[in-house]
Amino acid sequence: MTRRAGVLGVWHETNTYSAHPTTLADFAAFELLTGTAIETRNRDTGSVIGGFYDSPDLDLVPVFSAGAWPSGPCGSEVMARILDDLQSGLHRAGPLDALVLNLHGAMVAVGTADVEAKVVLAAREVVGDVPIGAVLDLHANPSPALVESCEALVSYDTYPHVDMRERGREVAGLVTDMLAGRRLRTMVRKLPLLVCPLAQATEQGPMHRIQRAAAARAQAAGVARVCVVGGFAYSDVDRAGMSVLAVHDVGSEAAARDVVDATISDIAEHAGEFAVARDDTKTAVARAIASTRRPVFLVDVADNIGGGSPGDGTALLRELLAVGATGAVVTIADREVALHAARLGPGAGIDVMLGAKTDRMHGEPLHVQGRIERTSEGTYRTSGYYMTGRTFSMGTTAVLSVAGNTVVVTELPVPPFHSEQLSSVGVDVGDASVVVVKGALAWRGAYEHIAGEIIEVATPGVCPVDVSSLPRLAEPMTV
Ligand SMILES: [Zn+2]
Repeated sequence: MTRRAGVLGVWHETNTYSAHPTTLADFAAFELLTGTAIETRNRDTGSVIGGFYDSPDLDLVPVFSAGAWPSGPCGSEVMARILDDLQSGLHRAGPLDALVLNLHGAMVAVGTADVEAKVVLAAREVVGDVPIGAVLDLHANPSPALVESCEALVSYDTYPHVDMRERGREVAGLVTDMLAGRRLRTMVRKLPLLVCPLAQATEQGPMHRIQRAAAARAQAAGVARVCVVGGFAYSDVDRAGMSVLAVHDVGSEAAARDVVDATISDIAEHAGEFAVARDDTKTAVARAIASTRRPVFLVDVADNIGGGSPGDGTALLRELLAVGATGAVVTIADREVALHAARLGPGAGIDVMLGAKTDRMHGEPLHVQGRIERTSEGTYRTSGYYMTGRTFSMGTTAVLSVAGNTVVVTELPVPPFHSEQLSSVGVDVGDASVVVVKGALAWRGAYEHIAGEIIEVATPGVCPVDVSSLPRLAEPMTV
């Protein structure tokens, strides 16, 4: 008999230093759906929920899914609305045998430091004692309360995150096993080690080695699954830091404990390998100008949109213009300027203060004069490696020509995860001398193959290379 499993999603990476509170409109722009629209949006895409739908053995009942690009904490009224919609959706769904959840694991709301634990408990209140399986981001900060609230908790193994669909499929499989009688639990241990995303790549480096060693330990010990969770440092909450999760059969607690302990020790012993330092803006731009390997990708690490930055940082554009660079492509999120340019229309001149309007952490607004080349609605569909097949919106988007450079001004900050973001507005980065990307590593899936050189820059902002430069009030949790 096929069993009914409810599908829920609450997905947000919250940068608690971001000045932009996440609103319902931000969720609506990315995903805020109930019922069958969730299936329509996700089936056959590279999303986690797309992976749930690959499961042949579950009768999936789409209930509620909210997701937004990373930004600041959402207000308590947004949180209340999410919990309300989720619970009323579960009531409408009728009796369910299990739940599959797409969570992030680093979501914070005003007054709720541990959103995911609250989400699972709210779901539990309605569905009762049924198996719950959840997928977390590799940048999750899972708390013991969250881990206790679900049976099976698995995080992405990859960064850039290319295994979202695979993890969705995996968790659907674990839930199927539990419905067939397998009894699973998850264990967590945490280390208060805050790591810049640049050091969390999983194809090489310390994460790669630690993950492989952990997987080998789990296999040798007969433990179902171990995950090394890189954590999200740009969050001032007690659960921030690296974590190790182990999904194990009931009765295998001791073996799971050994695997988790050995993996935590491995991370602690090699903590120094996660330290990173990069050139400042001036030095990095000078290197880019001197480089003969085009295009040079200048990575605006602290204005990492995928880490919750506003995408309106001006440091690199200011320096490029100051040294007389030409042929550069820079994307800046600035709603006011994007809408102003759309009103003026293609061919018109433009004279504005651009960017750095969200807060004072991403440089100063920059005076630019140029010409409006094109404007568009800013919608594109991805064919790339990440969230494949999904449609995203940058809002009204204007392509400006500024002193021989191309400046793409978007209404909304959207991470540079897909080459379609620029190709859809007629910008060919292959022709550029320098391309500024506002991210850490995930942009590489879209552009690394065409990069002549990559220079990661210690720019100012809420996702700094030096994570210890951010003020921190919360006491780190060690369990
Ligand atoms: Zn992530």
